[in-house]
Amino acid sequence: MLSRRGLLARSAMLLALADVPARAATGASRQIWMQNRAGEEVRAAYRHGETYDAAVLQRLRHLFRDLHEGTQGPLPEMLVDMLSVLQEAWGYALPLLLNSGFRTPRTNAMSEGAAPASLHLRGLAADVSMPGIDHPDLALVALSLSERLGFMGIGVYPRFVHLDVGPSRRWTRIGRGWGR
Ligand SMILES: [Zn+2]
Repeated sequence: MLSRRGLLARSAMLLALADVPARAATGASRQIWMQNRAGEEVRAAYRHGETYDAAVLQRLRHLFRDLHEGTQGPLPEMLVDMLSVLQEAWGYALPLLLNSGFRTPRTNAMSEGAAPASLHLRGLAADVSMPGIDHPDLALVALSLSERLGFMGIGVYPRFVHLDVGPSRRWTRIGRGWGR
C-alpha cells in the first residue's frame, strides 16, 4: 500500500500542508468537529485567539468520557488544539471519530492494544479516525504536524490512530509500511 511512489506523493501532500499550523496561529478562532461512539457530537469554535471557551471544553470533556463507566476525565487544551490542527488539514470537512478518549483503569484493561500505563488513563490521548481516510494517511499528516506542534505519540492500529500529548513515540500495529 505504501509504495515508494505512494510515499513520494504523500510527501508532496505533507509539504502542501506544512503551512497549516502557521495559519492556525493567526486565526481568530479555532474549530473542532468530533463524534463519539455514543453518537454524540461537538461541532463548535472552542477557542478565540488565546481564550478557550469553557462551555465548549466542558462539552468536549463529556464527549471524551469513558463510555463504559460514564466517568469524565481531564482533557488538556493542548490535545484539543492538536486534534483541531489535524482536522484543519482537511478543511474541517470531515468529523474526527473518537474511538476512545478518557479511560478508567478497568476499561483500559479491556481495550485493544492498551498499555497498562496508557496515557488514556490521564486523559492525554485520543484514538481517532476520519471517514474515508486511510489510517496511515491520517498518521502521516499527524506526524508532519507533530514536528511543528511539539512531541507526541502516534500509533497506527487497524481501526484508529492513537494520538497523545506525551513524549514523542511512533509505532504501528498494522504490520507493515509505516513506523516501527
Ligand atoms: Zn490510544
